[in-house]
Amino acid sequence: MSSSTSRPRVAVIGGGVLGVSTALHLGREGADTVLVTEADLASGATGRSLSWLNSFGGNRSDAYHALRVLGIDRYRTLSDRAEESHAWLKFDGGLTWAAPGDTDRHRAAFAAMRRHGYDAHWLRRDQVADWTPGVDPAAIPDDGAIFNPGEGWVDLVHLVRHLAAQFSTAGVELIANSGQTQLEVRGDRVTGVVTGAGQRLAVDAAVLATGPDVPTTLAKLGVRVPDATPHALLVQTSPIDTALRATLNTPHVSVRPTPSGALAMDSDGAAEEVIVHPDGSYEVKDATIDGLLQHASALLAGHPELRADWYGVGRKPIPGDGEPVLGTVDQLRGLSVAFSHSGATIGLIAGELLARQIVTGAAEPLLAPFQPGRFA
Ligand SMILES: Cc1cc2nc3c(=O)[nH]c(=O)nc-3n(C[C@H](O)[C@H](O)[C@H](O)COP(=O)(O)OP(=O)(O)OC[C@H]3O[C@@H](n4cnc5c(N)ncnc54)[C@H](O)[C@@H]3O)c2cc1C
Repeated sequence: MSSSTSRPRVAVIGGGVLGVSTALHLGREGADTVLVTEADLASGATGRSLSWLNSFGGNRSDAYHALRVLGIDRYRTLSDRAEESHAWLKFDGGLTWAAPGDTDRHRAAFAAMRRHGYDAHWLRRDQVADWTPGVDPAAIPDDGAIFNPGEGWVDLVHLVRHLAAQFSTAGVELIANSGQTQLEVRGDRVTGVVTGAGQRLAVDAAVLATGPDVPTTLAKLGVRVPDATPHALLVQTSPIDTALRATLNTPHVSVRPTPSGALAMDSDGAAEEVIVHPDGSYEVKDATIDGLLQHASALLAGHPELRADWYGVGRKPIPGDGEPVLGTVDQLRGLSVAFSHSGATIGLIAGELLARQIVTGAAEPLLAPFQPGRFA
């Protein structure tokens, strides 16, 4: 960064996975770091994420695919180095199948994954149990399913807690429940942040990691980042007895185990049924939740009865072109941004690269394709 201070003062706004990871890496890189967030940590999309760790499919740039694979690599390292992560970070693979009539797209995705060397196996229904347990073979279509043994899932609330527990060692200050923080701008640079509680912090640099709020905040500063953020719904069951280990991605529902022995699930269809009232509050119909639970039960061996224990609803940050927005804002010196779909998969690597770029001032090549300036 351009500051002359030997230990730059950096504020990260937003206590989701991207903000927490970036703040911790900033601290480790030697920046004098403060993380400010409006409520508790993980109160946004991070607190209600399916968080399947993957680079499934062939419908993204090579650079994004590479970043996601590196994202999974960082989780592997975390799993090796922190035994406590074994309860909430698993690499039991992903099993995906297509809706009837969508097989061509699925075959193209499979071919793309094979081309990239991304571990992918096309299984007949009678082969699935050899790879992963707990799935009812009758649920699998005649065309079969794709199994990706290198994929996994993470419980982001546990991850965020794990990362934040290292803040004090890394010298990161946390200011939570401080309301909506605003950037303080003088001329063409960020000079500080002002929390919703009125506390002003002078900084050399700031990171906007406010999830779905990023495009609106940037628009007020004259920076355009197209937004495709939808509403999303995550349902979690009570603990059940199931052998399921993999993350299942099927036409009507995606499902994965949770650390407590329950299941977490979502689907685009269920999210579309969420009613958003004019005051911004949400309504989720019982029928939507029951539908998800029934679809999930039908996938599992023995079709266990599933009961909803909890659901979370809100916005899921997705940039307009589907690719992450990670990097410095050209129009405003000292400002960086982290806004992404697949924030679970890339959470660790994105924070690491952003922090290094901010502290060294040298552009990180892996972030070059994801700079916000691409929309200018
Ligand atoms: C249902 C669902 C399923 C998903 N599935 C997957 C998946 O399978 N794989 C995958 O990789 N990703 C998945 N994701 C995406 C992933 O969870 C998100 O990309 C990630 O959690 C985003 O993290 P974030 O830190 O950018 O935003 P958030 O978690 O939304 O955090 C932003 C934080 O900023 C705070 N904030 C906002 N404005 C301000 C302000 N002005 N001042 C202070 N604080 C502020 C908010 O309170 C919030 O805590 C899924 C998400 C959802 C919702």
